Amino acid sequence: MKRFITLALCLFVSVATYAQTQVIAHRGYHATKNSYDNTISSLINAQKLKVYGSEVDIHETSDGVLIAIHGMRHRDIKNVQKATFDEIRSLPLENGETVPTLEEYLIQAKKSKKTKLIIEVKNHYTPEKETEIVQKTVEMVAKYGLNDMVEYIAFRPWICFELKRVAPEGTPIAYLNGDYDPAYVKGMGISGIDYKYDVLKKKPQWIKSCHKRDLKVNVWTVDDEDKLRWVI
Ligand code: MG
Repeated sequence: MKRFITLALCLFVSVATYAQTQVIAHRGYHATKNSYDNTISSLINAQKLKVYGSEVDIHETSDGVLIAIHGMRHRDIKNVQKATFDEIRSLPLENGETVPTLEEYLIQAKKSKKTKLIIEVKNHYTPEKETEIVQKTVEMVAKYGLNDMVEYIAFRPWICFELKRVAPEGTPIAYLNGDYDPAYVKGMGISGIDYKYDVLKKKPQWIKSCHKRDLKVNVWTVDDEDKLRWVI
């Protein structure tokens, strides 16, 4: 009988854990006073809310510095991947903060035991460059002792493969581009999908199909209540 109760309890916990919807602040919690996306303040705001994760976009500058910024543009710089770190850093963001480095992000990430950092490795010009960026990122995360506090996402399958090859075994890696079905993603050897809301709305069967294969399902970007209820 005791064994039965233990088993029942285990099942309950795992089902409960499985079913629990988590919140990730997209580019940090920046949609608030005096913040801006991908800044240290946006990460601090997410940490204060104790959400599951805070997402951040990573590009590499022309002189090899990993920075947190969403798009290619920054002020009058058209392409941050072709600009130097000093050029980018000399131009403050709208809220007065400067574009942070990945290293600064990790230092702040270390201050929370609760909020994970969801690192999106952005597409770069060549697979070789992407391999180098993946290696540098994974090494830096390890250097700061954050292996258990970081998950990765990427649009490009190559980046997912390289993350899988280089990151410690079991590190969560999710594919963003929305075009591969769950069976294919399972075959990639990564841990889940992170698809646009519209994709899953059109193919809701993919959610169950992922769960059946033990793939985690993430969805972006869910900002209103109707969508929130649907994904839950
Ligand atoms: Mg992103």
